Amino acid sequence: MIKLIILFQFIPWCLFAQNTLLNDYYSSPLAISLSLSGTFCEIRNNHFHAGIDLRTQGKEGFPVLAAANGFVSRIKVSSVGYGKALYITHPNGTVTVYGHLRAFADNIQHCVEEMQHTQQKFEVELFPDSNQFIVLKGEQIALSGNSGGSEAPHLHFEIRERYSEEPINPLLSGLMVYDTVFPVITHIAFYTNHSGSYERNRIERVKAINDSVYAVDDTVRLWNTNNKFYISFAAYDKAMALDSNAVGIYSATLINGFDTLFNYQYNRFNFSDTRYVNAHIDYEAKITEGIKLERCFSLPGDSFPAFKNSGSGIITFNEIAIANLKLVVQDFKRQSSTLLLELAKDSLIKKVKLIPKVTLVFNKEHILKSKNAALRIAKGNLYTTIDKEELMEWKGRNLYSPIVKVFNKTIPLHKGAEFAIRAIKIPVVLQSKALIATINDQNKITGSVGGVYKNGWIKTSIRSFGNYAVTVDTTPPTIFHNQVAFDSICNCNVVSFKIKDDLSGIENYKGFFDNEWALMEYDKKSDCLLYYFNNKITGPHQITIEATDAKGNTGYFKSCF
Ligand SMILES: [Zn+2]
Repeated sequence: MIKLIILFQFIPWCLFAQNTLLNDYYSSPLAISLSLSGTFCEIRNNHFHAGIDLRTQGKEGFPVLAAANGFVSRIKVSSVGYGKALYITHPNGTVTVYGHLRAFADNIQHCVEEMQHTQQKFEVELFPDSNQFIVLKGEQIALSGNSGGSEAPHLHFEIRERYSEEPINPLLSGLMVYDTVFPVITHIAFYTNHSGSYERNRIERVKAINDSVYAVDDTVRLWNTNNKFYISFAAYDKAMALDSNAVGIYSATLINGFDTLFNYQYNRFNFSDTRYVNAHIDYEAKITEGIKLERCFSLPGDSFPAFKNSGSGIITFNEIAIANLKLVVQDFKRQSSTLLLELAKDSLIKKVKLIPKVTLVFNKEHILKSKNAALRIAKGNLYTTIDKEELMEWKGRNLYSPIVKVFNKTIPLHKGAEFAIRAIKIPVVLQSKALIATINDQNKITGSVGGVYKNGWIKTSIRSFGNYAVTVDTTPPTIFHNQVAFDSICNCNVVSFKIKDDLSGIENYKGFFDNEWALMEYDKKSDCLLYYFNNKITGPHQITIEATDAKGNTGYFKSCF
């Protein structure tokens, strides 16, 4: 039995690997021609994109079709992430995912609304039985939309292996997408390695020789005691030449002479590894320059499977102190662009004696303490060895602690690091309202990383380095209606409200229509709360809304019409 299960788990991927057998298994989830506004493993903020984004001509409301026979196994409604999303399980051991939907097919929609009313919540999640919503390939299951974290109307589409839940590049299934343009290479950066930490020497802009060949102006001269060098590059792809929308690449290969030094393709990954994106890119260049440089080498703490067997990426010079490099970047249609460059040993640079520094080794636990702060970086939380910096403290204004500098925001963290600041002179009544705030270079509060007061300390978990201090959140969320004249809402189909919180964030909200719980749709990216009227309603009626933030402050809205 166990053998059978294992075999079943591996079947889909074997089929994908052959890349032909499944070509007829899935049909397009949209009835319009497919063009991508997002690619698989595209580099996003703190994650690799798990699916493909399919354009919907800038509009909502296109029929979304089941890509293959199966049953609806999961339905999720959220104000963030994939928004309204459907999951269909297929007999071949895969699950397809459809995200940012506007609405579900009627039978599914009814079931969702029933659950929303029972739970008196907009955000719900359902796991229907395998016989509840059986769907056929090509059957309409939803309407495309812009819900959740989506920034413009599109359909997010994923194919996952059912048991491992690993997303697989949907283009491996043979979906035909429009793309006639070669990838564009924009930058290259050079690195050296000193006792476990990598240092960027410089970033160069690259020059297009034609639409698929790139070069740098001159021979790049570099120097290092160990004669080992590394590179990263920035590149993007487009579907059409005039497209304003850039998407990610599919593969990259770095060649020195006849030797392949580093090679990877984006075929699949595990969600638990998605944050390794911050190890793959030059995180510092992203934060300081806004450039997404993909490394052609792996940092020691990077365990992303696609780079496991990619190679060392170490560039060495030949006997005449030169390296002839070729970087080949491909999109999924195997349209390649090549960057050609020559590296040479720089004989002019004098040998600099490296001063030994105190470091934090990447694969160990580290605990740092100052007078009023403490930090624990767990093992596996750093991608590379970093220079040790003590926690620094200085006085801020209108805060309940000193401002604490925790390393530098250009160093990425893989998981949350335990962090605590001692609260100073905080009145007892405000202790439950205390949190740790992020502080900018002008010593101003920019946001919250939460936290709970206990025995004089506020404890939380931080996922990035930077400056922090203790403050309190005593301000309730604000709620306004978006209508010019609220009295005339009887003539509308929908009424919308702005609902916002200044610091700790909205934890929950409830809307009432004539004192009865009302289904209001929350869209976090626009701070909007929407209430749909079924028909024109004649007055008098009353709408009330209450919203509570993460520190228990509640704001109210009430209007009669
Ligand atoms: Zn997407």
